[in-house]
Amino acid sequence: PVSNGHASHPAPTAQPHNVFSLEGHLALITGGGSGIGLEIARCMLTAGASVVITGRREEVLKEAVADLGERAAYLVNDVTERASLEELVEQIETTHGPLDILVNNAGINMKKPALEVTDEEFDRIVHTNLNAVFALTRVCAQRMMARQRGVILMISSMAAYYGIDRVAAYAASKAGLEGMVKVLASEFSGAGVRVNAIAPGFIETAMSRTAMNNDPDRRDRAMRRTPMGKFGQPEDIGHAAVFLASDAARYITGASLPVDGGNSIGF
Ligand code: NDP
Repeated sequence: PVSNGHASHPAPTAQPHNVFSLEGHLALITGGGSGIGLEIARCMLTAGASVVITGRREEVLKEAVADLGERAAYLVNDVTERASLEELVEQIETTHGPLDILVNNAGINMKKPALEVTDEEFDRIVHTNLNAVFALTRVCAQRMMARQRGVILMISSMAAYYGIDRVAAYAASKAGLEGMVKVLASEFSGAGVRVNAIAPGFIETAMSRTAMNNDPDRRDRAMRRTPMGKFGQPEDIGHAAVFLASDAARYITGASLPVDGGNSIGF
């Protein structure tokens, strides 16, 4: 027999395994009804997965699922309600089977000078973008580790990489995610669970379009800081998520992948 260089992975067979396929996998995508989360869902469906998307607005989720097709389902859930998360995952696994992929995508932002941010605003952002991610990740990881298989993805941001004005709480939450990814990757990898982050640059979504349209200077600055000279599309994050969730990334854990048109290079 010919060695494929990975003793723990099966040797190539006559029927080559598509390492980018998510066929037969089940993914939970928080905030999957809009923007980046919706395109992650669409890309994962195209790669063969089934998806469950969550969010707080039922009408948004219902419309998204109607568009995504029959391998997609939704559940209304607010990730900040920690007590609901065990039941959420239990309901998903009872109805659809074991979860293979968790994408912690739900997030909120707010632009305000640091000195004007109230304690409540700071707490709300960090609670949604960081604390809730930790809570849901723990619920899912426990089940995945028991099955010795699973992938957890965090949607981070360039705000975790360098200073962007007026997003202190957001930057703190995303930098927190980046730190957490490394620790969880180290703790979970022995049990077959990989943990990675994707750090999007400027991606055109309803959220970012409104912010940019309200502040043309910011749009120009963003363009100047992006070597590829254009904004990314939500599906660019979707493709990266499929890659990191698939067997093509089986030896990648604890990483943060910038998908940013070169924004993080700095120039
Ligand atoms: P959107 O506002 O379009 O999507 C955010 C999603 O999160 C919505 O579907 C929203 O649904 C959901 N959500 C918000 N709060 C909660 C909550 N408490 N519980 C459950 N769901 C929630 O923004 P984007 O698609 O742009 O952002 C997605 C992720 O990508 C975020 O984590 C963001 O920080 C990150 N990102 C985005 C960038 C960009 O340029 N767009 C750049 C870098 C990172 P609902 O309101 O119905 O709950």
